[in-house]
Amino acid sequence: MTDIAIIGGGPAGLSAAINARIRNKTVLLVTNDYKDSYLAKAERVDNYLGLPGLGGQELMEQFRKHAESQGVEEVNKRVISVMPMGESFFLSYESEVAEAKTIILTTGVVPAGKLPGEGEFLGKGVSYCATCDGMLYRGRKVVVVGKSADAVEEANYLHEIGCQVTFVADKEGTRGLAEGVELVTAKRLEIRGDKAAEALIADGREIPADGIFILRQAISPQDIMQGIQVENGSIVTNKRMETSIPGVFAAGDCTGRPYQIAKAVGEGQVAALYAAEYIDKMKKEN
Ligand SMILES: Cc1cc2nc3c(=O)[nH]c(=O)nc-3n(C[C@H](O)[C@H](O)[C@H](O)COP(=O)(O)OP(=O)(O)OC[C@H]3O[C@@H](n4cnc5c(N)ncnc54)[C@H](O)[C@@H]3O)c2cc1C
Repeated sequence: MTDIAIIGGGPAGLSAAINARIRNKTVLLVTNDYKDSYLAKAERVDNYLGLPGLGGQELMEQFRKHAESQGVEEVNKRVISVMPMGESFFLSYESEVAEAKTIILTTGVVPAGKLPGEGEFLGKGVSYCATCDGMLYRGRKVVVVGKSADAVEEANYLHEIGCQVTFVADKEGTRGLAEGVELVTAKRLEIRGDKAAEALIADGREIPADGIFILRQAISPQDIMQGIQVENGSIVTNKRMETSIPGVFAAGDCTGRPYQIAKAVGEGQVAALYAAEYIDKMKKEN
């Protein structure tokens, strides 16, 4: 079992990972591609102490090299859920699962706004992961709402396993869809159903579906970790970066403003130190 699973590999996650390794803890860092970090989008950073004038990608590369030198291994997958299991946690990232003693959430800012019906039908026909749930819909109609970089690949995978796939994009220019996958461009989306999702309404057109896969880069903290306390979209923490769930810590943009690298790095460090302390305490008690 891993000591600390870190979800998100931006400055907060990498800082947490380095500090956890320095505390001699084993680390599993699961993250989307590093280019999805907000930092990778910054043209030039002038307010990070000691390293002025670097581009965001350059700074990320420095952070990642540092993490690598501490033995941090990165798994490039999207985490779908984390579930408490007694004294540990199970996290599922696409088709894989892992067990960890503690969790540090460093998922950055999640753009607000779910589709109407999304929350109501999540787990009842609505899924965030084609690789995890695709097999349930073999031979049936599915819609992929493609908002992530790998959405086309996931739609093609569903087609390959025998689903009848409609891909819905919000702008023109989707490339790479397998032959047989229908492409619809629409902006206003809504999920309708009764006990389970039955259709996606796309700019007024009804697309019947047994499964609706909403593929975004980021998933809101409450959807990853049921029951975690969130206020105005940010995870509530104390000064030790503890969340409302014992053993779960959070750091960086996901805990709220200011959205800055130095804050993310500092909080990542604090989260790792208290996660390490939590593990040591549990060990003594057992
Ligand atoms: C254009 C721009 C310019 C900026 N300029 C500056 C600046 O000059 N100075 C400054 O201090 N700050 C700047 N910022 C802000 C800074 O980039 C952020 O505050 C910082 O990146 C936050 O780090 P983080 O680790 O909390 O989140 P992020 O850097 O956003 O990293 C979070 C990572 O977690 C991943 N993730 C999310 N959900 C999941 C999941 N379910 N499974 C796996 N991975 C997941 C994300 O894809 C991402 O890679 C800028 C931001 C932008 C957008």
